[in-house]
Amino acid sequence: MRKNIVAGNWKMNNDLSETETLIRELKLQNNPSDVEVMIAPSFTNLWQAFNTLKEHPIEVIAQNMHFADSGAYTGEVSAPMLKSLGIKTVILGHSERRAYFNETDAILAKKVDAALKNELRIIFCFGEELKDRKSDNHETVVGNQIKNALFHLDASALNSIVLAYEPVWAIGTGETASPEQAQDMHAFIRKTLAAKYGNDFANEVSILYGGSVKPSNAKEIFSKPDVDGGLIGGAALNAEDFFAIANAF
Ligand code: 13P
Repeated sequence: MRKNIVAGNWKMNNDLSETETLIRELKLQNNPSDVEVMIAPSFTNLWQAFNTLKEHPIEVIAQNMHFADSGAYTGEVSAPMLKSLGIKTVILGHSERRAYFNETDAILAKKVDAALKNELRIIFCFGEELKDRKSDNHETVVGNQIKNALFHLDASALNSIVLAYEPVWAIGTGETASPEQAQDMHAFIRKTLAAKYGNDFANEVSILYGGSVKPSNAKEIFSKPDVDGGLIGGAALNAEDFFAIANAF
């Protein structure tokens, strides 16, 4: 079912005590009833965050995982490990994973399969770089990212997938896609899904926007018909800002 979602990607920020402090502040905020609110702390703080928020509607999710269930992959974390904590959702394909850790579409397709096999919900990220937009290739790039990592799946798998369009040029730069640019791309993404899986399935998929979302621009971005929420970086590290965004629908 298509839902409104606001997810905070903490990236490599907050040690254990900072995680506890931010969660304490998040619990004081007004949780919207019709929006799924999620936070993705670092792996080392997932267990603490999960336990602290057990009775709270904020869902604790993971930022990444490996495609293998176990094995000789030093430093990696698997889907069964996340599941064993009670984690139900994982972010895959973030542009920082693609850019700094060489995650290709082929690797991401394997991660998607592993997450689904382990019954995890996926927030699947993708987005074009500035050069793609300047050369008017942004739709081709985004279309290929989606097709290469997801189009081997059956339509029923879409029930477990949330998409997050994050134009690389808007991440952490203070530069946001205009609400119109976001809407145009989200409509294109839905059309791409519909061409493969049909309108009924495409209309049920939540598509989030990410890239310099803040309290001052969230309302306008979320008001667009194909934007179902946001994946928030910097502003998710401040409890008031994050919940101002979560309450901006
Ligand atoms: P910023 O909100 O800091 O631009 O980060 C967006 C992002 O990458 C969320 O995953």
